[in-house]
Amino acid sequence: MVMGPTHSMSGAAVGLAVAQALPASWGGVSSPEEAFVYAGIAAGAALLPDLDSPQATVSRSFGPFSLALSRVMEGTARSFVNLTRGSRDRRCGHGHRTATHTLWFALLAGVAASYLIGAFGKPAEIGLLFVFLGLAIRGLLPEWSKKKDWLAVTGVSALVAAGAWVYVPTTSSALVMGSAVTVGVLTHLAGDSITRNGIPLLAPLVPVGRRRWWKFRLPKPLRIPASGFADRMLLAVFSLLVAAQTIAVASGTTVS
Ligand SMILES: [Zn+2]
Repeated sequence: MVMGPTHSMSGAAVGLAVAQALPASWGGVSSPEEAFVYAGIAAGAALLPDLDSPQATVSRSFGPFSLALSRVMEGTARSFVNLTRGSRDRRCGHGHRTATHTLWFALLAGVAASYLIGAFGKPAEIGLLFVFLGLAIRGLLPEWSKKKDWLAVTGVSALVAAGAWVYVPTTSSALVMGSAVTVGVLTHLAGDSITRNGIPLLAPLVPVGRRRWWKFRLPKPLRIPASGFADRMLLAVFSLLVAAQTIAVASGTTVS
């Protein structure tokens, strides 16, 4: 994978771009504040697939709660791979980078979020924002949040979510707000697929030969190491994209 900060920042950049692109007539966001909520959810969802690794920093976002969730996700992913693997797939010993790193997980997570927002309205939207902000903060600032107590991450997320509860109008449709989760997860998958290990993008539905959990990888010359110069360049580019779009959105030139 590329590193946590790059995942968060690319999720925010793509989230802001999609929020501005979706027309209000389709239920898209119609205020700068909502565009930032959309981007916040996408930034956190861009870490969601790595909750399948209890060792990942993102799994410590909410202390024992996210760690417990992460253990369940890893175990579920591992069992799922072993249940669905083809005769030439190796037995899965650890669920990391498996079920949560597929196109189907991206779609399902977005559908689940849309369903929650559709059924429970603003409380669900702000609740999702709270959870995903926690992941985004942990992703963006792994060093800071490693030293601080996980309660600090939780506190900051809760504060921003409370502000959003008071100040952000909810005019966009549940489908659009939920799509922020799919956008974030897809951005994560794109980030992971350019590294050497690749991801099982279409598993287990699209087999190749007798393998169902084959890894999708870019051609060799296009792959980058998980950390290092290329990762730092990507982080710089996405940070600039976020800054430029933040100015455009906040000044009301692209969303109003
Ligand atoms: Zn990953």
